[in-house]
Amino acid sequence: MNKLNFFDDELFGLEKKGLYRTLRTCSKFKSSKLVLDGKELINFSSNNYLGLADDPILKEAACKAIEKYGCGSTASRLMCGNLALNEELEKRIAGFKRTEAALIFSSGYMANIGVISALMGRQDVIFADKYNHASLVDGCVLSRAKLIRYPHKDVKKLEQILKNTGKYVRRLIVTDSVFSMDGDIAPLPEIVELAKQYDCMVMIDDAHATGVLGKTGRGSLEYFGIPEEAVDIHMGTFGKALGSFGAYVAWSRRLIEFLINKARSFIFTTALPPSVIGSVIVAISILEMDNTRIKILNKNASYFRNQLRKEGFNILDTKTQIIPLIIGENNKAIQFSEFLMQNGIFAVAIRPPSVPLNTARIRFSITAAHSKEELGYTIGIIKKAGKKFGITQ
Ligand SMILES: *Cc1c(COP(=O)(O)O)cnc(C)c1O
Repeated sequence: MNKLNFFDDELFGLEKKGLYRTLRTCSKFKSSKLVLDGKELINFSSNNYLGLADDPILKEAACKAIEKYGCGSTASRLMCGNLALNEELEKRIAGFKRTEAALIFSSGYMANIGVISALMGRQDVIFADKYNHASLVDGCVLSRAKLIRYPHKDVKKLEQILKNTGKYVRRLIVTDSVFSMDGDIAPLPEIVELAKQYDCMVMIDDAHATGVLGKTGRGSLEYFGIPEEAVDIHMGTFGKALGSFGAYVAWSRRLIEFLINKARSFIFTTALPPSVIGSVIVAISILEMDNTRIKILNKNASYFRNQLRKEGFNILDTKTQIIPLIIGENNKAIQFSEFLMQNGIFAVAIRPPSVPLNTARIRFSITAAHSKEELGYTIGIIKKAGKKFGITQ
């Protein structure tokens, strides 16, 4: 017996269930297109919502930062990696989010595991939406707090749970604002109200909302008109709409100091490289200067949603640029995605465990970089595929 046989068994099991994942090689991406395994395709899988990732202004800022500081930050923030650029960006984030202070983390994943595990411990309880991003789930598990997951966006059920949960020291409600697989939006006004009533902290993950939701892209609170003070912890990322990499947590100064001392994923890792920080600073400047890109994004996304709904596709309750086209069965979703690919369109099939059983889907990410022609062409191909695979009449 080979002690590594269990790998093969598990992989074979995944293959049988149509859940086997493989990597594809992307040799180039530019604006709304990418070259994948040698073929140019219209890209519906990137989170580059505002088309900033290859913007000349961001590229120039990254190069300038490299020339001035070099390629690496050489150490963690608490050692000598705290380049002045970090503090400049943190000031800009606090201004953008209208909070007292902000702290940069190396990625959204690290921000979420670091913040939750710093704040919560064994004697505490966390209430989490069932569809929360994996990084929030991992943060909860890492904290060792009691984790109670409530049904997706179900505030009635959440209230029942809050009422019936016994004594804990600290209580936290945590939710994505825009859900990454369904594109729907958490009922934040109700959640904030419940948090007040039941004495909980609230943490919101704005990864897909930063630079997207709200008139000027400040995120979910701007979208709902919720005052900043009503939410304790705002978290968001730079790797999606802002076109770069990294993440922030925006909060009160005192609590940022707490994280600098307590968040292990902040303390025990190398600071972001200068090029990344330089590009994020100008991305924020672009957002603060005008919201043209946000308007184009919203127009593109609502066109795409309306066309698909009109054709009778099930796209759940999406209200955003993330548009799930529900197929159901795993293998059919893969075939659907392959058909799109043959027609020059790249949109991946998402399968369990990323989404619930029997809701395999094609996930379309709409961006401001997509042209009207590209969107119209894609709708045409989807219509064809819908009939071919028996999804629509
Ligand atoms: C992408 C994402 C993250 C992780 O952010 P990274 O910077 O990519 O690590 C966290 N939360 C949500 C909701 C996300 O969609």
